[in-house]
Amino acid sequence: VAEIPAPAPDAKTATSVKISNRDRVIFPESNVTKVQLADYYAAIAPIMLPWAGKRPVSLVRCPQGRARACFFQKHDAGSFGDTVHQVPIREKDGSTENYLYVDTADGLVACVQMGAIEFHGWGSSVASVEQPDRMVFDLDPDEGLDFADTKKAAEHLKEQLAELGLVSFPLLSGGKGVHVVVPLTPKAEWPAVKDFASRFAQALAQAEPDRFVATMAKAKRKGRIFIDWLRNQRGATAIMPYSARAREGAPVAVPVSWTELRDIDTAARWSVTDLDALAKRAGGRGLEGWGVADQVLPDF
Ligand code: ATP
Ligand code: MN
Ligand code: MN
Repeated sequence: VAEIPAPAPDAKTATSVKISNRDRVIFPESNVTKVQLADYYAAIAPIMLPWAGKRPVSLVRCPQGRARACFFQKHDAGSFGDTVHQVPIREKDGSTENYLYVDTADGLVACVQMGAIEFHGWGSSVASVEQPDRMVFDLDPDEGLDFADTKKAAEHLKEQLAELGLVSFPLLSGGKGVHVVVPLTPKAEWPAVKDFASRFAQALAQAEPDRFVATMAKAKRKGRIFIDWLRNQRGATAIMPYSARAREGAPVAVPVSWTELRDIDTAARWSVTDLDALAKRAGGRGLEGWGVADQVLPDF
């Protein structure tokens, strides 16, 4: 009996979603078209969905391409078709809104068909919206700092988290910074996670006020790294691993190991045109266990 060859890791996932304006250029600086972006998401889906699937997502949609008007979409407008699902979530004012989530390649591609470039996710899954399964510290360097400073800061957070017994993982944002991701067993609710994140970030800023700030005020950021802990409140989102960014060169947010991070010199190291490299490294040993740890918040 002839053996059926296994699909190559970069084999395109079949998608039944029809793409209109296939040749529309979405990234003018690198000539990446709408169908190329759709193909990127279809192929990366098996690697991306364990992180981005089945959690409420907000989309950055740029229907005319990244250089034209973009908007941030949180709620379902009812136009995405049935591969993009809805989850009702209570809002602050007591009303209920339908948020979006996807769980298939078709769902990702259906969003691209609607002009989406970026996928931002909640820190909790649709199965337990009120109990976060990850905490994120988004390191935002002031202009003028180099990536080396951001890497050092990320390492510092890693060490401080480890002292509290928490394992963490770095994510290149695809933009300027690094996100330090702390997986959580979904137990504590949003207020407790937000409180921990806030106190942790403030403690770092207090210990090294010349290096870190933990408040949003732009004026206080001069020459410092803002430890953006505000991603950890109910309703906030952060860029999902393997999401493309609506920025020059079509960069992608990429999970890396702490060892790899040392030799990387930009948060925009990979782009949607690096699909083969991304698929290959995702199966490699360096990324084994990225983002996975069974841990709860310690007393702090
Ligand atoms: P960089 O490394 O360049 O900072 P980033 O993804 O961390 O990239 P930020 O500007 O630091 O970008 O983070 C903005 C965060 O705010 C994103 O994680 C996103 O989920 C969220 N966000 C972006 N636009 C909106 C918006 N219009 N409304 C609400 N939240 C938004
Ligand atoms: Mn950031
Ligand atoms: Mn930020």
